[in-house]
Amino acid sequence: MLKKIFPTLGRFRFAIQLLMLLFTVYGSALIGHYAAEKVSNTLPALSCAFDKQNGAYCVLVPLQHQMHHRIGEALVQGQQVFNTVVLPLFFLLLSFFTFFVVLNKAFCGWICPLGTMQELLFRLGRRFNRPFHRLKETQAHKARPVKWLMLLVLVLGLPLLAGMGIAPDQVGDPFCQVCPSRLATTLLTADTEQIAVRTGHPINFALGALGNALFGFILIAALAARQPFCRICPLLSLNAAFQKLSPMRLSKQPHEKCEKCGICTKACPMDIHEIWKKSGHKAFNEDCTLCGRCAEYCPDDGVIQIKFFGLPLFKSSRDYYKARVKSETPEGMPKGKVIWLKPADTKLKAE
Ligand code: SF4
Ligand code: SF4
Ligand code: SF4
Repeated sequence: MLKKIFPTLGRFRFAIQLLMLLFTVYGSALIGHYAAEKVSNTLPALSCAFDKQNGAYCVLVPLQHQMHHRIGEALVQGQQVFNTVVLPLFFLLLSFFTFFVVLNKAFCGWICPLGTMQELLFRLGRRFNRPFHRLKETQAHKARPVKWLMLLVLVLGLPLLAGMGIAPDQVGDPFCQVCPSRLATTLLTADTEQIAVRTGHPINFALGALGNALFGFILIAALAARQPFCRICPLLSLNAAFQKLSPMRLSKQPHEKCEKCGICTKACPMDIHEIWKKSGHKAFNEDCTLCGRCAEYCPDDGVIQIKFFGLPLFKSSRDYYKARVKSETPEGMPKGKVIWLKPADTKLKAE
């Protein structure tokens, strides 16, 4: 007598297994290669791709393929991107942070070569008794937006548009093409190449000619006015943008004598009237280069201070002031020096 077949779950499962074995090994012979490929997209079958009659490709095949050809290669490219883009960007940001946040305005007053050269020229102008021009309060205020314009147009805007292909390539580095520091520092190394104007393209020619004219103007202007280029320098505006974040700052306490004094503004190479008329954070103006002259020439103890992380690095003091004015007036006139162009005058009028 035939044994009765009892439909257990185990038998049902085994039947499915057999069917799937047939399908995964011979499936494409039954349903066609095209349909088998479609099934492969949804069925994670351990069905060997080397079996030419299978009904589903093993998911591990494309997975290995993706790891090998896509992800692995992308990581290599990524590593190249890391080495060539991310790392340099990191160091750029680090130096950017050091200069713009930690040093901030102190870069201008203590490190910038063009700032130093302008100061030297001004001293030379005093020696030759050149006329002394200073900006009035309204003039200083009117000049302030120019440095922001220089930053937005010459340093950020035009190079970005050139990179996007909207503006011509020749305006990829427009600030460098007009920068007086490029000419001044290279000429100091006896390299005259930079003074030559590029004639290959009208834009380069125009910018080069403008740069040379600006350089000449600054050389002459610096003999009679303090820091002429600094007033429009895009680096000053970049520093001003980070001024509030910087631990390096100028601090001024309100003082009753200030109203009738104003020596700090006379001493300021950037003609900042706020250092005299205001106090607190308003006295630390966007044009300040942290040169410290206002603190040197303030005749009252501790009214003006240069601070780093809140710690005073330098404080105004009466004793220091008395000693300082013996060698130089707040406006920068040397005292007790012979004027070269007028040997008959042995002392400056300012004395
Ligand atoms: S304002 Fe510009 S040119 Fe003047 S000291 Fe600062 S960085 Fe140098
Ligand atoms: S020099 Fe000193 S006392 Fe005079 S106005 Fe400036 S902060 Fe005030
Ligand atoms: S405000 Fe003082 S520290 Fe700032 S630029 Fe003028 S003199 Fe120098």
